[in-house]
Amino acid sequence: MKRTDALLLLVGAVVCVAAYASAQQRGGRGAAPPDQQPFVRTIEQVRGDLYKVISGPGVGAVTVFLVTQDGIILTDPLNPEFSAWLKGELATKFPGKPVRFVLASHYHWDHARGGGMFADTAKFIGHENMSKNLALPIRQARPPGDTDDLNGDDRLTREEAQTGTRANFDRFDGNADGFLTREEINADIRRPDVTFSDRYTLTSGGTRVELIWAKNRHTDDLFDVHFPDERVLFAGDYVWINRLCCNFSFDRRPMATWIASIRALEALDFDIVVTSHWAAGTKADVIRFREYLEDLSTQVQAGIKAGRSLEEIQKTVNLQKYSNFVGYPDQVPAIVQSAYNSLTN
Ligand SMILES: [Zn+2]
Repeated sequence: MKRTDALLLLVGAVVCVAAYASAQQRGGRGAAPPDQQPFVRTIEQVRGDLYKVISGPGVGAVTVFLVTQDGIILTDPLNPEFSAWLKGELATKFPGKPVRFVLASHYHWDHARGGGMFADTAKFIGHENMSKNLALPIRQARPPGDTDDLNGDDRLTREEAQTGTRANFDRFDGNADGFLTREEINADIRRPDVTFSDRYTLTSGGTRVELIWAKNRHTDDLFDVHFPDERVLFAGDYVWINRLCCNFSFDRRPMATWIASIRALEALDFDIVVTSHWAAGTKADVIRFREYLEDLSTQVQAGIKAGRSLEEIQKTVNLQKYSNFVGYPDQVPAIVQSAYNSLTN
């Protein structure tokens, strides 16, 4: 098995990216190959009382939590196994600090499952579209990645399920009938007790946390979480640090609005960005990511305007400025195709 395939199977998470990079490329996460050494979940201090938790190798999901006077504010609960482990870790490391709030960034199963583990002490805050998405037919609120209910029967076959949804197919198929229903995929996802539309300020335990709707990036319920006192931003599935992004027609989102939403993040007051599937970075890294998107969009648009074919554009686009990005140069043709599809559809 190729190393990248092994990572893909292990990750169990699906994201809007083309490349599955090695753990080393991600800055030492899980330095040994995954078939030789099991991944160990890690809790790392980001700044002050804010910590990040890395759930798996490669593009395994990342979540953060803030320890306050009154208890803990946790973002994505990820999944029941992770939540059970985290609850134990928190009880040992921060005794007497129950999880008071769970902020599920969006409805995708690789982030939102497992919240019930904290239901005895926590209030759940989510975007107003989250409960709606969990109730919609699969075609209208797809699982993460490129999975789609192609025949429209509102359930997924193994062939329709892609990437992480396929890798977790048997785990999700509770009745083992060979189909995934919406209820099976979204089992263990807790609906929010409190919802908001554009912005929500959570004040608790002597600190403040800002929940900022991402304006229909990635999913229509995704929000980013800003910790103003720590000057840290926890950014959802559309922000990548030093990595070529993104796959399948840029997540079926217009590139111009994607770029605009990165610009909106740049206006926030933060030094550190923690991303939900990848390495953390600085504001300068976020700016560089936006510049890469603009550069890619400009070059592909120029090619389209000049009447060149996709194959010609793939040969002429020059992303050498981003040669330090993970995925360069192998992923360049796929990224150009994704941008081409996004710009022409
Ligand atoms: Zn997602």
